[in-house]
Amino acid sequence: MVKKIVVIGGGFAGSHISRKFDKDKDFQVTLVDNKDYFEFTPSIVKVLSAPEHLKKIQKYHKDYLKNSEIIIGDLTDIIPDNKEIEVKHESKTKKIKYDYLVICSGSTYSQPFKEKNLVLPVRGEHLLEFNKILEDSKNVLIVGGGLVGVEIAGEISQNYKDKEVTIVHSNEVLMERMSVKSQVYSKKVLEKRNVKILFKEKVVKNNKEIYITDKGTKIKSDICFICTGIIPNYEFMKKHLDKSLDKRDLIIVNENLQINDFKNIFSAGDINSIAEEKTAQNAEMQAKIVVKNIKRVEKNKELKKYVSTPKIMVISIGKYNGIMMYKNYTITGIIPAFVKWFVEKKEMMKF
Ligand SMILES: Cc1cc2nc3c(=O)[nH]c(=O)nc-3n(C[C@H](O)[C@H](O)[C@H](O)COP(=O)(O)OP(=O)(O)OC[C@H]3O[C@@H](n4cnc5c(N)ncnc54)[C@H](O)[C@@H]3O)c2cc1C
Repeated sequence: MVKKIVVIGGGFAGSHISRKFDKDKDFQVTLVDNKDYFEFTPSIVKVLSAPEHLKKIQKYHKDYLKNSEIIIGDLTDIIPDNKEIEVKHESKTKKIKYDYLVICSGSTYSQPFKEKNLVLPVRGEHLLEFNKILEDSKNVLIVGGGLVGVEIAGEISQNYKDKEVTIVHSNEVLMERMSVKSQVYSKKVLEKRNVKILFKEKVVKNNKEIYITDKGTKIKSDICFICTGIIPNYEFMKKHLDKSLDKRDLIIVNENLQINDFKNIFSAGDINSIAEEKTAQNAEMQAKIVVKNIKRVEKNKELKKYVSTPKIMVISIGKYNGIMMYKNYTITGIIPAFVKWFVEKKEMMKF
């Protein structure tokens, strides 16, 4: 009998799982996403100063899922005892049954980096508007000097030499979870391009275009990018699966990426509690295990364990400069920038 897999979220994890089962005659996929497209998030920083690049990093779900049902709506509740979910779809609530449920609802990041509940043309308009504001801005403020903050500072400082870019970072080094070499290198490159970095300060309030830090520093800014981290998309868990959330609101999964009490519910990507860097690569690696394990449940085979392994991290500092890290090795310069470009090409070819 054909088994029904409902996948929540069409980001890196969800689109991978949907694609893999789309061609499998033993399964029928329903993808529920609150936007109608996949977007290669790592290249959004580039799009902000080069909006023409956008069409290269987006794909409508309907263009790569030929045999699946696609529902553009918001998951609002999961009722595991009935093997059923509720989705808000065109202002109506729709109930959908499943044999397997895979939760890949990912995370929210500040606008313009990620957006929810919209269709592709509107997303394009929003990014064009941001680009226009950026073009017209003299002063740019970036709150947070982690990976995203460094990448956006790198992109803007390279493409707009006349803009005054400031990063406010609460830590004493940039990208504190990365290697020391990468911290030193990113600071050196950005400062050489006249990016001002305020360490150990936090933006606490703003009055129109004046932003004020906890140390009383006032920064004038025409555009502000908030790069302070991710927020999990978990609201639909509250009613029936509250106990499966950890204290950070991430979905607790076992080593097979299942929610413990429900062997037919899996979760992959940014939304689950696996202790590793929340990256697109890791989301895809987890998605691969979920695909294998659903097939293994069907065949009564022992399930595969997800083992987190060190991965190559690539950070761009503009088009021709970057940092690549693997375990204790760090490479800087043009090669990482090329690798970043290549990864985008390779990833988008899968669709
Ligand atoms: C600016 C930026 C740069 C990044 N750069 C890199 C990088 O260089 N390399 C790297 O590996 N990673 C990078 N990342 C991280 C990477 O983008 C994430 O780890 C990845 O997107 C996680 O994939 P995911 O499938 O778990 O979730 P997401 O990509 O967040 O996708 C989740 C999907 O679920 C949908 N959704 C959410 N809630 C619901 C709901 N209730 N109902 C229906 N649909 C829902 C969302 O709209 C979305 O489509 C970057 C992130 C950002 C923000």
